[in-house]
Amino acid sequence: MNAITFDRVSKHYGDVLAVNDLSLAVEPGSTVALLGPNGAGKSTSISLLLGLLRPTSGRVSVHGRTPDEVVRDGEMGAMLQQGALIPELSVKELVDLVRRLYPRPLPLDEVLELADLTGLAGRRANKLSGGQAQRVRFALAIAGAPKILLLDEPTAAMDVESRLRFWAGMHDYAAGGRTVLFATHYLEEADAHADRVVVIARGRLAADGTAAEIKAGVGGQTVRFALGGQPSAGLDRLPGVTAVEIADGAVTLHTADPDATLAALYRGTTLDVRHVQLSGADLEAAFLALTRES
Ligand code: ADP
Ligand code: MG
Repeated sequence: MNAITFDRVSKHYGDVLAVNDLSLAVEPGSTVALLGPNGAGKSTSISLLLGLLRPTSGRVSVHGRTPDEVVRDGEMGAMLQQGALIPELSVKELVDLVRRLYPRPLPLDEVLELADLTGLAGRRANKLSGGQAQRVRFALAIAGAPKILLLDEPTAAMDVESRLRFWAGMHDYAAGGRTVLFATHYLEEADAHADRVVVIARGRLAADGTAAEIKAGVGGQTVRFALGGQPSAGLDRLPGVTAVEIADGAVTLHTADPDATLAALYRGTTLDVRHVQLSGADLEAAFLALTRES
């Protein structure tokens, strides 16, 4: 059974169509990035999953049940974009308070460890930096040991080090076979931390696959090198190559698999390959192309 299913879901806010006919199935145990620019419909999708909003049409289900049922049973945890902490409580008191609301919580020490808060356990919530407060929100989200964890732009306000620690905790949490869905507009985060990337733009599904598949699907990667006066015959038959351009003594190979193309270029040809440049091998180009088209 799917962990998460969106079946032709749309959500209107008055005239605004925030989620537009979205269908999606997420397998249990996977870590999925919901990647899209601001206003794409990421937070709305998460609110629909939590049962905080109802779809205008279509159906959202979690483990085959309604979001309300799953939330009631404490099987879903969430870190939302907003949410104040109780200022007078220490980190430890706050986390313990929340974990006790769940039927089968994680041990307190484990929550603090996963959220990298062990050293801050006695600190009052109103004395935390933005990044530390975000780590407390993460702790509150995992305190009940939810099988499904939803994170809405979790690294906002975190510095580089907090981010690294946060993602390490997320991976440790996910490693127990739990399902994680996180919203982000950072391409690098989707690339680095998800098994699967679901790109949405203007409420619509724009692409769905591994980061590598999405990059390859857009075909934006190129291998360039100086050709000089050497013959270009056969370059179009190298593995991965989808197009060849030659201009000013340089050749540009468009490729779906730059590793294979380069290997074949060195081993399978007698060309003297110099001044090699690789480019477009990032999710950013793919993302821009996808969100522009849709
Ligand atoms: P994201 O999280 O990807 O930035 P949101 O889901 O917050 O996107 O918003 C999707 C669209 O819905 C945007 O156009 C936003 O302005 C609009 N929207 C979000 N919440 C509301 C609301 N409560 N009322 C009206 N429009 C809203
Ligand atoms: Mg949002």
